[in-house]
Amino acid sequence: MNQKADNNKIVIAIDGHSSCGKSTVAKQLAKQLKYIYLDSGAMYRAVTLFALRNQLAADGKVDEQGLIDRLEEIKIEFRFNEATKQNDTYLNGENVEDEIRQLPVANHVSPVATIREVRQAMVRQQQAMGKNKGIVMDGRDIGTVVFPDAELKIFMTASPEVRAQRRYDELTEKGKQVSFEEILKNVQDRDRIDSGRKESPLKQADDALILDNSTISREEQLKWVTKKVKEITED
Ligand code: C5P
Repeated sequence: MNQKADNNKIVIAIDGHSSCGKSTVAKQLAKQLKYIYLDSGAMYRAVTLFALRNQLAADGKVDEQGLIDRLEEIKIEFRFNEATKQNDTYLNGENVEDEIRQLPVANHVSPVATIREVRQAMVRQQQAMGKNKGIVMDGRDIGTVVFPDAELKIFMTASPEVRAQRRYDELTEKGKQVSFEEILKNVQDRDRIDSGRKESPLKQADDALILDNSTISREEQLKWVTKKVKEITED
C-alpha cells in the first residue's frame, strides 16, 4: 500500500462478501471525509438489468456473447438525488436505483460479473472516477484489481446467516415479499460464484485489513475504520 497520498486524499477500497454492509460503511466514510462514494456493484447490477430487459439473461443463464456485442450501448451514470442525499444509478438515462436491488437482478448479477469484457469496461470507468483520489469504492476486486495501490484496503465479511438476515430485514422493511431461505441461497450462490470465478475473483488483498462485523455494531465498525483512516492521513 502507498504510505501517504500527495494532497492527503487517499483511495479507500472496501471489498468483501455480498450483503455484509460494505456500502453502509463506505457511504458513512465518504460523507465524513467529503469523499466521492462509488458503488461498483451497482454498475454490474445495471449491466445485468440491461441483459434481463434485452432477453440476454433469464433463468439464471446469460447469453455472454450477445451481451458483449451490446456492451457499447450501455451507459451507466450516478446522479445525486436531492431527496435521499445519495447517488442514484442511471442506465441509459433512466433511474434504475430501485430495480437493480431486486431479486431478478441479484439472481443474475454474479454470472454477468464473470464476463471478462464486462469487467474490463467497468474497471476502466472505475479507475477514471478514482484518478484524483478522495474516493471510497466498494466491491469485490477494488483492492486487488481496480486500485491495487489504494492507501487503505478493507476486506469485510460476516457469516452468511447474519448477512441474509440483514438483507431480508432491508427488503421486507421496503414492503418486498421475499423469504429468508431464498435470500440466504442468493447470498451463498453469489459467494460461491464471486470467489470461484476466473476473472478477478473475490479475494482478500494481501495488504487488506479484515473487518468481520458479524457481532459488532455499525457504530463500532465506523469507529474502527475512521481510526484506520486517521492513522494513514495524519501520520
Ligand atoms: O456489491 P453488490 O452485492 O451490489 O454487487 C453485486 C454483484 O456484482 C456481486 O455479487 C458480484 O458478482 C458483482 N461485483 C463484482 N465486482 C465488483 C462489485 C460487484 O464482481 N467490484
